[in-house]
Amino acid sequence: MPSTHEYVVNLHMHTRYSDGSGTHQEVAQAALRAGLDAVIVTDHNVLVRGPEGYYREGERRLLMLIGEEIHDQAREPQKNHLLAFGHDRELAQYAPDPQTLIDKVNEAGGICFLAHPDDPAAPAFGETDITWEAWEVQGYTGIELWNALSEFKARLRSKAHALFYGLNFRHVGRGPDPKTLSRWDALLRQGKRVVAVGGSDAHALHAGMGPFHRVLFPYEMHFRAVNTHILTPEPFDGEYEHDRRLVLEALREGHAFIGYDLPAPTRGFRFTASGEGGEVPMGAAIPLGNGITFKIRLPLPAGCRLIRDGEAVKIWKQGDIFTYIATQPGVYRVEAHIPYLGLRRGWIFSNPIYVR
Ligand SMILES: [Zn+2]
Ligand SMILES: [Zn+2]
Repeated sequence: MPSTHEYVVNLHMHTRYSDGSGTHQEVAQAALRAGLDAVIVTDHNVLVRGPEGYYREGERRLLMLIGEEIHDQAREPQKNHLLAFGHDRELAQYAPDPQTLIDKVNEAGGICFLAHPDDPAAPAFGETDITWEAWEVQGYTGIELWNALSEFKARLRSKAHALFYGLNFRHVGRGPDPKTLSRWDALLRQGKRVVAVGGSDAHALHAGMGPFHRVLFPYEMHFRAVNTHILTPEPFDGEYEHDRRLVLEALREGHAFIGYDLPAPTRGFRFTASGEGGEVPMGAAIPLGNGITFKIRLPLPAGCRLIRDGEAVKIWKQGDIFTYIATQPGVYRVEAHIPYLGLRRGWIFSNPIYVR
């Protein structure tokens, strides 16, 4: 059964409980202004209790969930940050061994994503890279394919670049790190199910609070940029536990896509596959049978590619509705690109459909 309800989620951010500057209330207000449906706040190594729930402003409401970004604070250099959602107890004590940590998240009923898998150093600003290194781990839900803050770090090649991009957030976003995209395709080719999400890693730190790398962007700016859109089989009903379950289930199953909502809203993107057994959404598996029909719908005309096992099998230069009949098994995903501020930029990255 295809999922039809779409919600826009921003799922990686920091408050004063770790190294962000805002409160949960300020995060909620920024998210409401930006038109988000849900946020997952992920402070470093602390599972904050209390601020979760619904926040309202006029007719609009925002669901706030609390997750956690866990890493081994004693490790030098810093590596292996893990985003954990939906677990019911503090797990930061397991950070020194990433596999144990992932196992504990699963035991605690949670899901987890390898955060900023390829995070570049910015030596001019004393910023080291916080790449994921423990690639032997198993049992994680997926990866944070597109992290807006890592992408900003990648632009900091000089003080002039830093000044320009620091003042012109709209010029930063171009797409996931190509290294992360190829890692993801390689994992998918190995037959693994790996869900991709996009996160802002918003900190909202202000100028004057420290060295240059602290001059970052307000929450609202981030919430209008790299988001994860989820598809759910039933609508949110405003009841916290019910709606929380829908969010976590969609992320667990990969019924989701990454949308860069700044050039143009990505709400309305769909990628489905139909075969003898019916239609399935992204994230699902489907038997090949006598062939599969993919349907792709973009919110407005743009360039689009259908990718199988890491290779483009079809490129459409411009359009908003596409179909493709597949006669080969493989892992299929969709990318859409859009021109914005003089560059062709990554706009939509779907989760895959697994044709077995
Ligand atoms: Zn991190
Ligand atoms: Zn973070």
